[in-house]
Amino acid sequence: MNAPKIMVVEDEESLGILLSYNLEAEGFEVEVVTRGDEAETRLQENVPDLLILDWMLPALSGIELCRRLRKGSETERLPIIMLTARGEEGDRVRGLSSGADDYLVKPFSTPELLARVRALLRRAKPEVLSSVLRAGDIVLDREAHRVFRAQTEIRLGPTEYRLLEFLMQNPGRVFSRSQLLDKVWGDAVYIDERTVDVHVGRLRKAINRSGPDAIRTVRGAGYALGKDRP
Ligand code: CA
Repeated sequence: MNAPKIMVVEDEESLGILLSYNLEAEGFEVEVVTRGDEAETRLQENVPDLLILDWMLPALSGIELCRRLRKGSETERLPIIMLTARGEEGDRVRGLSSGADDYLVKPFSTPELLARVRALLRRAKPEVLSSVLRAGDIVLDREAHRVFRAQTEIRLGPTEYRLLEFLMQNPGRVFSRSQLLDKVWGDAVYIDERTVDVHVGRLRKAINRSGPDAIRTVRGAGYALGKDRP
């Protein structure tokens, strides 16, 4: 199963970047569009699993786009979270009456947004929040806590498992040792960065028994799972 796709329609560039960074870190595939009319065109070509839609947009407002989407057969059930500015209380109601499933008032916290995204997906598209991660021929089942490569089960220690899970959530992305320490070990512990190399080495040894080297070492930068991200 591929990562769930989210389209963010937001004309504030910095917010668009922040949202896409955080959603990608959670394992979503993200496309950011800055204009309402552009979003409408893209949505006719490609319907994501969820849409995050700003209210005030150039060319075509979020509210109008939402109304139009609800009339289209491909998009009538598309999960939509509307973003509104603080103080537009009346607008919020209009936002929901235009067909949005949920709304968030700016400024909002990233954990709040992520929680709303997950809640809406669970409600509207539970199949996309699968507990099984796949990367090439590697399969990680979070519920069963088991890992397979080319149908062969791979036994991993707890740290190697968490490391693989994290890399599989972000296939192709390069992480530095300090980023991995932060994300996999947590920032509360003090561990030497060379420890990361030790665990990557163990993980590599375990998963490469059943196939070619799945982990890329990027000199001076860190590690990534699989191929380069396009
Ligand atoms: Ca805006």
